[in-house]
Amino acid sequence: MDPIQVMGVTGLPLIHAGDDIAALICERQKVEDGDILCIASTIYSKAQGFTKKLSSIIPSERAVRLGKLNGEDPRFVQAVLDASADIIMEHPFILSEMSFGHIGVRAGVDQSNIEDGMVIFLPPDPMKAAEGLRAEIKKISRKNVGVIITDTCGRSFRRGQTGNAIGWSGFTAIRDFRGDMDLFGHVLKITEEAVVDEIAGFANFVMGESNNGVPAVIFRNCPTWTGHDDLYFRASEDITKRALKKEGYQPL
Ligand code: GDP
Ligand code: MN
Ligand code: MN
Repeated sequence: MDPIQVMGVTGLPLIHAGDDIAALICERQKVEDGDILCIASTIYSKAQGFTKKLSSIIPSERAVRLGKLNGEDPRFVQAVLDASADIIMEHPFILSEMSFGHIGVRAGVDQSNIEDGMVIFLPPDPMKAAEGLRAEIKKISRKNVGVIITDTCGRSFRRGQTGNAIGWSGFTAIRDFRGDMDLFGHVLKITEEAVVDEIAGFANFVMGESNNGVPAVIFRNCPTWTGHDDLYFRASEDITKRALKKEGYQPL
């Protein structure tokens, strides 16, 4: 097996609404069949104009209340509420579910790597975003490249943020080991590996969080896998979400 190569795409400009990020990436980095291209959600959203001026946002009563409670700008809180399909926790930060299934702190709304006074939303349909980018890259390069849209996310139980996949195209999210035999002949009953998150995590490491200017990372020579796309728990399976909702929204 050839060694896996991981290449940050350097030299990309600051992205603005209307920019063609597939073309900008392909101009700077040759892609090959089977490559996996990770793209920070932040540049996809900037290119698509999923951004807002804080000064254009009028906070609701709830946003004003939560702004006071959590020490945040009520207009920012309103942006988070607008991006959320279901609020799971209100304090000490908003934790919410987006319509596409991802659960995240402050609905993934960012104020970094954009001009002062602006917010960046996660793409409303990151699966469609990944599919679209994959098709555009195919059109430009004639190569079959898998795409993962990433975002930096906090997690339960452990300190420190990691990259997560919020959209993907060209492979399944999960590599399903159920039914496989381990080295001792035991049949695996539970193991489903969230491969897209593992790759997104390493891509996030190469991207960095601040002023690196590397919003895209290419993986070459990765093994292929089979599985399924049910990355997000169904409501009936999600014991953490159920427990948090039962606790209610009481301030700590
Ligand atoms: P997120 O994880 O999707 O929220 O994105 P981050 O704000 O953490 O940015 C990820 C990487 O992309 C970092 O290396 C940033 O410096 C870089 N980045 C963000 N926006 C731009 C941009 O418009 N142009 C370039 N070249 N890099 C960017
Ligand atoms: Mn982000
Ligand atoms: Mn990040």
